[in-house]
Amino acid sequence: EWLSNPRTQAVLALLSDAGHQAFVVGGCVRNALLGVAVTDVDITTDAHPERVIELAQAAGIRAVPTGLDHGTITLVLDGEGFEVTTMRRDVATHGRHATVAFSSDVTEDAARRDFTMNALYADARGHVTDPLDGMADLRAQRVRFVGDALARINEDYLRILRFFRFHAQYGDPAQGLDADALDACARGAGGMGQLSAERIGAEMRKLLAAPDPAPAVAAMAQCGALAQVLPGADPQALPRLVHLEAGIPPRWLRRLLVLGGPEGAPDRLRLTRAETRQLGQMRGAIATLQAAAELGYRLGPEPGADVILARAALLESPLPPDWQAELQRGGAASFPVRAADLPHLQGPALGEQLKALETRWLASGLTLTRKELLG
Ligand code: ATP
Ligand code: MG
Repeated sequence: EWLSNPRTQAVLALLSDAGHQAFVVGGCVRNALLGVAVTDVDITTDAHPERVIELAQAAGIRAVPTGLDHGTITLVLDGEGFEVTTMRRDVATHGRHATVAFSSDVTEDAARRDFTMNALYADARGHVTDPLDGMADLRAQRVRFVGDALARINEDYLRILRFFRFHAQYGDPAQGLDADALDACARGAGGMGQLSAERIGAEMRKLLAAPDPAPAVAAMAQCGALAQVLPGADPQALPRLVHLEAGIPPRWLRRLLVLGGPEGAPDRLRLTRAETRQLGQMRGAIATLQAAAELGYRLGPEPGADVILARAALLESPLPPDWQAELQRGGAASFPVRAADLPHLQGPALGEQLKALETRWLASGLTLTRKELLG
């Protein structure tokens, strides 16, 4: 029913009515087959980019050349963007970078994609074209490189990270990772240094947000890829965290916190300012703040939960009793004393006294009343 989106249909019809091939391709087909939510819809066609623009303009659809060098035009329909990319094939590989040319052959286009499960094509009626047997791999929850793993990695080292992230998202946790692919990742890991922080960050976010990233991260550490993106990171506590998280929605930043590594993480992953701030705050709180109610009061229940879970995973300690209720209680509480309650004080002295009373109040488990504090 994702295909029945009238805007997706309109884009496909725009191209096919003009006599071109048009397919939705990649992650959206994979996810639709898995019954997973489809976010972005990618479309591929044998129409060349100028032709896509021409057809869109004739139909009154806005066309933005977002990646002209990759042959990508974004069509905007009712505010929704559709990336339309002209099918391509590799002509020759000069050193690391493949030279590409446009193609009208789905099989050639598929050969340039990273994994077989990402090389699936669906037409407007939902008929799937599967030139590389990706459906069988998808069913078997097997992340398989298209072509020779090492050759594909040497073309684009990001594929190492994508291998682990797709395994975490769609792989069979019981099956482990393909030994040849892991070997290729180990050989290629040294090349990851040249990847941009944006690309690394985007993959790491998706990897760490997967239901259980721990086995993939452990394999990444073993082949040397983890040290390339998070030098000093230690994957040991991550499985403990995932275990403690049972029933709690995953948060990638919490998992990054447990994975650790130096303060450099923000640069290597291009964290947003808010993420950098949160990470710093959580690191500080792990070391200092102990009680769940105080964490809820100071940070709010959600970041407070991150700190409690991360600390328990890192220190191999049990979760404190009633920690979730305590976080909520702290989050809802407000310090009962106001400046107006201390009319005899002002300036720094007032501030100091308020702080002292707040410390007493926190030490009491947020139970002392205004009267008790002032009395
Ligand atoms: P997600 O659901 O996370 O978006 P996705 O499979 O759609 O997963 P994208 O990064 O959006 O991943 O890429 C879209 C498609 O483009 C992929 O399915 C794959 O076919 C192709 N692709 C993307 N990145 C690469 C790459 N580095 N090398 C080869 N093919 C790639
Ligand atoms: Mg996508």
